[in-house]
Amino acid sequence: MKELSIIDTLKKVNEEVTLYGWVDTKRDHKKIVFLDIRDRSGILQIVGGERFKELSSEDVVKITGVIKKRPEKLVNKNIPTGTIEMDGKSFEIINKAETLPLPIDSDGYNIDEDIRQKYRYLDLRRKRMTQNLVWRSQTTMFIRNFLVDRGFVEIETPILTKTTPEGARDFLVPSRMQKGKFYALPQSPQQYKQLLMVAGFEKYFQIARCFRDEDPRADRAYGEFTQLDLEMSFVTQNDILELTEKLFTDLVKKIFPKKKIKQSPWPRISHKKAIEKYNSDKPDLRENKKDPDELAFAWIIDFPLFNKQTEDDFYHGSGKSKFAPSHHMFTAPHPDDIELLEKDPLKVRGLQHDMVLNGFEVGGGSIRIHDPKIQQKVFELIGFNDEQKKQFGHMLEAFTFGVPPHGGIAPGIDRLLMAILGEPSVREVMAFPTVASGKTAVMDAPSPATPEQLKELGIMIEES
Ligand code: ASP
Repeated sequence: MKELSIIDTLKKVNEEVTLYGWVDTKRDHKKIVFLDIRDRSGILQIVGGERFKELSSEDVVKITGVIKKRPEKLVNKNIPTGTIEMDGKSFEIINKAETLPLPIDSDGYNIDEDIRQKYRYLDLRRKRMTQNLVWRSQTTMFIRNFLVDRGFVEIETPILTKTTPEGARDFLVPSRMQKGKFYALPQSPQQYKQLLMVAGFEKYFQIARCFRDEDPRADRAYGEFTQLDLEMSFVTQNDILELTEKLFTDLVKKIFPKKKIKQSPWPRISHKKAIEKYNSDKPDLRENKKDPDELAFAWIIDFPLFNKQTEDDFYHGSGKSKFAPSHHMFTAPHPDDIELLEKDPLKVRGLQHDMVLNGFEVGGGSIRIHDPKIQQKVFELIGFNDEQKKQFGHMLEAFTFGVPPHGGIAPGIDRLLMAILGEPSVREVMAFPTVASGKTAVMDAPSPATPEQLKELGIMIEES
């Protein structure tokens, strides 16, 4: 491991040190060269003799020299090490770099997205991108500490699983052992987290990867995303909202101290009022939309339990049903509206809550149904036939063995960070996102399977 990071040279004035890193920039003068050497901690100016001209941008180098204070008039106020520089004595090129296929000294927004993703490992050298991923790491670490301190248990749930209905198309994985059958990648750990409540964990969370085969948009990467998945037993909707609000309020204060939360406690707005007043169920409540440091969180509650089912709904029941769940099929109806389930399902309110930030829906959740009879009724209203009901038979069965009342929420990590940082796309806060065409960063997936692989899986590809 290297002994010294660049930022630590501030404490090494008049000492000889050895640094490892990349050549950031080079400015040739007649007899001397000015170089900036870079590592993750920062950059430092090196003044070298003619031999140093051999170095070029992005070479990986080892450089030895003495750290000197800069004369007052040469201090560079723009960098943390601007008061010092190194008098370079010797260097070693550990790895020579070709000219990079894309510039990395800009913010990168104007560079073609395909190029940025093809060379994502270079794009991530960009200061903005490095910083975004550091913030992301600090965010998930903060979440973990906050929840574990409050008695939560972090539990992983399977990736090879059965369809979990969040209203999107599933990704399927063919089974070799049981030819002709498929796993589905989880759209979320929804059913598992509810089963963990039946198991008695009471407070669960997971920084969970979710998979949905939906068309990409700026606020939604194609294929996969990460959410803080959370579930609790013996709670009211208010308990969930208060815990989540405290978590993210404290998080913003600690990790993003420049950002200002517009209103605390966060406003709670009924779905009806949101539509009437803002014509949106994710209103942007910022006072000044041009201020990058303003964060306007809000809760939207009292959603209708059902929407009218449309052609695009993936909940397709028998096809005759008129109702699709507004959140998902495990969301509990408002206790005052149970009777309406029979009479007028579209009037039933659900115990759903959406977390909104600056006009983005950054999370959603609900109190769940824990009465198998009501769950059956909801399945019927969605129009499930017996075969479809059987797909969720394990939930109905689990609910016969002592299920606590429970509920939860799942804030999206990518979208939340995008909104907090004011980034134009979730890709700016993900290390290796897919591009719009569905192609993955750097590695060129999806790609064809070999004839042997297909044979083993019993799959034939239809030529189109
Ligand atoms: N499973 C839901 C989702 O991914 C969140 C929840 O209801 O907790 O949107």
